[in-house]
Amino acid sequence: MIERVADDEGYRRWSAQVERAGHCVRPVRLSGSAMTVNAATGEVEATYRSEDEPGGVLLVACKDRRESVCPPCAARYRADAWHVFAGGVTPGDSAPRDHGHADSIAADDDGDGGDDGGGFDDDGRVTHPLVLATFTAPSFGRVHAARDGGVCRTVRRGKRTCEHGRPLGCPARHDAGDGLVGAPLCEDCADLAGLVLWNAHVGELWRRTVIYVYRALAALAPALNGRPVTVRRVRELLRVSYAKVAEFQKRGVVHLHVLARLDGVNPDDPDQVIPPPAWADVNLLTAALAHAAHRVSVPMPVVDAHAAAVARWGAQLDVRPIQPREIDRARVAGYLAKYATKTVSDTVSGLSASRPRTGELDLEQGRAVPVHVAALTATVRRLARLGTCRVLRLARHVHTLGFRGHVTSKSRRYSTTFAALREARRAWRVAQRAREGDPWAEEGEQGSARLLVGDWRLAGIGYRSVGDRVLAEQLGREHRQARQAWRDGLIE
Ligand SMILES: [Zn+2]
Ligand SMILES: [Zn+2]
Ligand SMILES: [Zn+2]
Repeated sequence: MIERVADDEGYRRWSAQVERAGHCVRPVRLSGSAMTVNAATGEVEATYRSEDEPGGVLLVACKDRRESVCPPCAARYRADAWHVFAGGVTPGDSAPRDHGHADSIAADDDGDGGDDGGGFDDDGRVTHPLVLATFTAPSFGRVHAARDGGVCRTVRRGKRTCEHGRPLGCPARHDAGDGLVGAPLCEDCADLAGLVLWNAHVGELWRRTVIYVYRALAALAPALNGRPVTVRRVRELLRVSYAKVAEFQKRGVVHLHVLARLDGVNPDDPDQVIPPPAWADVNLLTAALAHAAHRVSVPMPVVDAHAAAVARWGAQLDVRPIQPREIDRARVAGYLAKYATKTVSDTVSGLSASRPRTGELDLEQGRAVPVHVAALTATVRRLARLGTCRVLRLARHVHTLGFRGHVTSKSRRYSTTFAALREARRAWRVAQRAREGDPWAEEGEQGSARLLVGDWRLAGIGYRSVGDRVLAEQLGREHRQARQAWRDGLIE
């Protein structure tokens, strides 16, 4: 650290690099060079060499989404996730409702003033029906639970032990950090294979749920012009857009948090996001989600007589209408974004945050691994070897206990994408620099195009010394404090 800060000019350049890398805690170190070439004349306008930098390397942010891997990069990802979720809760081009239309008059007359998660927002614009739904997994056997100081599990009457002679109840009061929370009361009663297979099929279960939602919308929709609505007609009139985040429970199973929105369909421009007809309100959406969740299922490979053969949602389905008020919609986006940077290792202790390289253990080294987590990873490995499970490629998903999907995903027309946000940020930076006459901007003086030519090699990952890492973290803290002070109006 002393060496680093003693060299004034070197420290200035190095800290500028750390800032450009967003104070990433394990940046990618690149060595090489880049130049900008005037596309019209072929003239080299500027050259950059990493050898001019302190240590001879360029630092680039790792851009990891996971809080447990890189907090500053995860914070940026969380901010992006917020924009992706928030962008869909109040879609921009909602046209004012046509009050001359019979349907809309009927809807305005329902007495609740449109304050039901589909109606008018603060500025009087029409909003789409929107709900936050949590799809849970069914039970795979009784597990220990933390109940805010309450007793884990009480047995009221009848049998007190299972067929293996183990107690069905547990008098303990676990706190949330207790390694026992999420562990089965009886390892032999628990259906670990069913749990792992369920995780492996939750993506397919969700895909089918969406199909069932359209069927349910048709079944529950009011008759139009005296005729019942067919599924085909529903697809012509309505679209269910969504964004979802997968969250791991302590017992090792996935829950889905879904923001679901009802849109109308413009047959001339399918990409347009328009409000649905007035009869397609938030109550219809809520009922259709519940209807679909209770009926949908996915067959799973038969692995043993004890394991569940079909994947279904758990009985606990929570569907909450989101009010049209902007503040409520922003809050719900934040709620989902928080989950987007979590990993299975944040909830289920003992697992590693990312897929281990071949030969490495799936369990995090040097930490006590709860028995049930070890049992679950052993189950994934056992199933991975079975011929009936080959298509699931479970060997690659041991560290996620069989879950194979993305943590965050959305339907195509829900809102903007992460790629679009990154592009917007890049374009903004380029525009910023162009204003300052930067030779690295995409456009030159007279609007002539520039080409960027680079030649880079990977020099390593992370800071080269503990001192550098500590300094970078300190710079990150100062940066965050300064930004907070600016937000609070303490500094200009
Ligand atoms: Zn990072
Ligand atoms: Zn217990
Ligand atoms: Zn038992």
